[in-house]
Amino acid sequence: MQGVAVLGSTGSIGASTLSVLARHRDRFRLVALTAGSNAALLAEQIGTWEPAFAALVCDAGPECLLQAATRPDVDIVVNAVVGFAGLEATLAALRAGKRVALANKESLVVAGELVRRAAREGGGELVPVDSEHSAVLQCLAGRDTPMRRLILTASGGPFRDWPAERVLSASVPDALRHPTWRMGNKITVDSATLANKALEVIEAHHLYGLDFDRIEVVVHPQSIVHAFVEFCDGSVLSQLGFPSMELPILYALTHPERVRDPGIRPFDPVSAGPLTFESIRRDVFRAFDLGVGAGVAGGTAPAVFNAANEVAVEAFLAGRIPFGRIPEIIEITLAEHEPEPVEALSVVQSADSWARKQAMMEAAV
Ligand code: NAD
Ligand code: MG
Repeated sequence: MQGVAVLGSTGSIGASTLSVLARHRDRFRLVALTAGSNAALLAEQIGTWEPAFAALVCDAGPECLLQAATRPDVDIVVNAVVGFAGLEATLAALRAGKRVALANKESLVVAGELVRRAAREGGGELVPVDSEHSAVLQCLAGRDTPMRRLILTASGGPFRDWPAERVLSASVPDALRHPTWRMGNKITVDSATLANKALEVIEAHHLYGLDFDRIEVVVHPQSIVHAFVEFCDGSVLSQLGFPSMELPILYALTHPERVRDPGIRPFDPVSAGPLTFESIRRDVFRAFDLGVGAGVAGGTAPAVFNAANEVAVEAFLAGRIPFGRIPEIIEITLAEHEPEPVEALSVVQSADSWARKQAMMEAAV
């Protein structure tokens, strides 16, 4: 039996994780739960699972994430917190030698080097939950040939085929109407701006040690093919499945093993197809190039990109700025930043706070 902690249990990934765990009670024991909000749902989860540890961040403070992540009876930490707030728990869990099933991609984006160092030093293991990165891991598992090129797929979001002008003034309900995935609000807006795909390119860079010029993105509106992995002879492998996070969550828990799961919808090529692929409209979805550019610049630039994006998305969701201002705020904040090398957590934290202040001022204009 492996002990599991779920950080962010009341969110979309958190709830999907509990659904997966409910079907695998013979292998996993849920020992810790934390949530940022939604006390009622957390109470219900505590009633169902009777975990040894449970905490609501607004009552217990952010330290409860670290407590849950480093408990001796925890083997796997599912980090399903959204945003920068998930970083310290990722670091602490890896330093404590845990497997981190990482949904919180922001951890790796803002502090990729520190996260990798924490894993090396503490003997922890990082396994992606993000469907594209899980697909890559599944294509690579059991092979010792390195990949030559990686192509991540992107649904393109709800505005994939909208005229550029209309995208600029898209409403909050429009942005939250994702065509293929049901997710938390922040990542749903990131999927509409394509900032999410930039975060994923940086995530892939750190997970798989690939230079940025070997990571490409293609728009695939059906979200059936999750990634393409190309090897040196030109051969390409993919992982396919109907869009559901339960499979990548399950795989992050059991990797490199596979287990039966009757809850996963059987694949059917006829109802999945036809499958189409197209290029990203980079001029319309400018957050994508801004994010990848920050990844290439390195150091504190990705943390600044991430913080400015978090602030801009929050302002958009609150109705304070139009959709089209999200990339503008990111661009202005990045332009004012001189990236520094990330040698310690404090450097990332100051870059994050600085960028939040700048972006908030910009959002108030
Ligand atoms: P969500 O908003 O539905 O859930 C977030 C969870 O984190 C909630 O339990 C919330 O209470 C908690 N939380 C929020 N702020 C917190 C804070 N400051 N401190 C502690 N806990 C806090 O988000 P989600 O869609 O489940 O996404 C979670 C993470 O997984 C994100 O990083 C996202 O990018 C990633 N992800 C999600 C999906 C998906 O399908 N939802 C797919 C791939 C990756
Ligand atoms: Mg993804």
